[in-house]
Amino acid sequence: MTRDPHLLLEGIILTCYAVGIHTAFIYIRAEYEAIARRVEDAIDEALQKGFLGNGIFGSGFDLEILVHRGAGSYICGEETALLESIEGKRGWPRLKPPFPAAVGLFRGPTVINNVETLANVPLIFRYGAAWFVARGLPRDGGTRLFGVSGDVQKPGLYELPVGTPLRKIIYDWAGGPAGGQAIKAVVPGGLSAPFLTPAELDVPMDYESLAHAHSMLGSAGIIVIGERTPIIDILKIVARFYALESCGQCTPCRIGTTWIRKTADRIGAGEGMPGDLDLIRHIAEGMKGKTLCPMGDAAAFPVLSIVEKFGQELGETISRGVERT
Ligand code: SF4
Repeated sequence: MTRDPHLLLEGIILTCYAVGIHTAFIYIRAEYEAIARRVEDAIDEALQKGFLGNGIFGSGFDLEILVHRGAGSYICGEETALLESIEGKRGWPRLKPPFPAAVGLFRGPTVINNVETLANVPLIFRYGAAWFVARGLPRDGGTRLFGVSGDVQKPGLYELPVGTPLRKIIYDWAGGPAGGQAIKAVVPGGLSAPFLTPAELDVPMDYESLAHAHSMLGSAGIIVIGERTPIIDILKIVARFYALESCGQCTPCRIGTTWIRKTADRIGAGEGMPGDLDLIRHIAEGMKGKTLCPMGDAAAFPVLSIVEKFGQELGETISRGVERT
């Protein structure tokens, strides 16, 4: 969207023409002001050149693209919350069915897709499906944008074939761990993905392989955590994030995320109690599959993986607190 917004616009135009859509929205969080302005400028350029508007190049096909700025909520990435937000309401996920393809924006049938997918559409048209598939794996074609952050020497956004091993992305592209430290943990696909340990870094970054590793590719946002970071600090960050972002509609998510946050904060403050890890596990298990939207799962998965894989360190943190009191 920053470097080549016309690639996205072209993908939207082709998609709308194929499906017969005459109004498209690009939903951008309010914080991304510069990107929103860049995309709006690109829409103006496309309008002036005749790629958008009424009767595009004499085809009789009309298309308007509008940029909608959200107020800055994680849950508005959930498709039905996003629709509510565009309609000017609070960004609360809807009960499904009906699905947006049948009853979507302003109760009309609606196609929703992400920027990365839409930006691939013009390239697939230009070079063909076989070309696209050959850039990744036969079962999982194309490339992904891997956003690498955390304790690495060269954090950044890397477009690489689907199936590139996680270790290669971290060491060959992102320069390896920063500050000469070893890796303690890695989030492979955004904060809702279960954490991986250093022993799991050879996993290929595709949907199937990560599912076998009991994690997920998700947004392909890789977060590297170095050995000097106490895992309780990470648990606190994860717990706080989801407690803050829960929209509050369903009880397991609203109460569960807050309860996990309070427990993690208490452990972090040296006031952990024996049984706290079982308590966190119990709360997270109570959220899984019992909520209106996938955020209940998204909040539970990383917490459960932290407790499972780094339980020993968390147990030691709790014991130190118990000894002090
Ligand atoms: S799971 Fe959480 S975010 Fe999703 S609808 Fe329920 S309370 Fe809201």
